[in-house]
Amino acid sequence: MLDADFFRRWLTVAAALVDREAERLTELDSAIGDADHGSNLQRGFASVVAALEQEPPGSAGGPGAVLVLAGRRLISTVGGASGPLYGTLLRLTGKALGDVAEVTPAQLAEALRMGVAAVAELGGAKAGDKTMLDALEPAVDALGDTTDSFAAARDAAERGALATVPMQARKGRASYLGERSIGHQDPGATSSALIIAALVEAAG
Ligand code: ADP
Ligand code: MG
Repeated sequence: MLDADFFRRWLTVAAALVDREAERLTELDSAIGDADHGSNLQRGFASVVAALEQEPPGSAGGPGAVLVLAGRRLISTVGGASGPLYGTLLRLTGKALGDVAEVTPAQLAEALRMGVAAVAELGGAKAGDKTMLDALEPAVDALGDTTDSFAAARDAAERGALATVPMQARKGRASYLGERSIGHQDPGATSSALIIAALVEAAG
């Protein structure tokens, strides 16, 4: 079972991975965007961790409440497109988990599927458009009934991020480049792979 502490660990590890990889994320965004993806997410996840630390353990509520709190923080602190999109991912996943103290990996998989669907709806993107969805959708598809499936989700997200290289961007800032967006890895798909990879460490 996954409790609120697991979700706090997930977000804390995700923040650490974003911190470690911020320069690379910004470099990717400088090729096909405006060179702020690393700093955007660094600021957002630092604010999430600060919010979680302000709440003594337990008082942030269950898994759903932890994710809703984190999603709100991302929406309010990240100016770029990725803030509302990741914020929606966490907020809607949290809402789908509801008000229970513990959830199963299968329930997390189902809730994340709803969160990812909300991202697709908000951003109007679909698989193959060279966005974060190209990592998130395969990751959710790889999630199963046990925490062992987290590693498969991480691998699927990494493959999905790599697969954005030959794609032409059809959504977001990178789409303004048209064919010149081809040949670069999407920054958002890359950060999504980090966030999914954090699940493995949190469960470890
Ligand atoms: P901005 O583009 O506003 O500078 P960021 O640099 O933080 O925001 O994030 C860029 C990433 O956001 C892209 O690499 C892409 O993965 C993701 N993204 C942008 N627009 C969309 C969209 N409509 N749907 C899904 N993801 C998107
Ligand atoms: Mg950017």
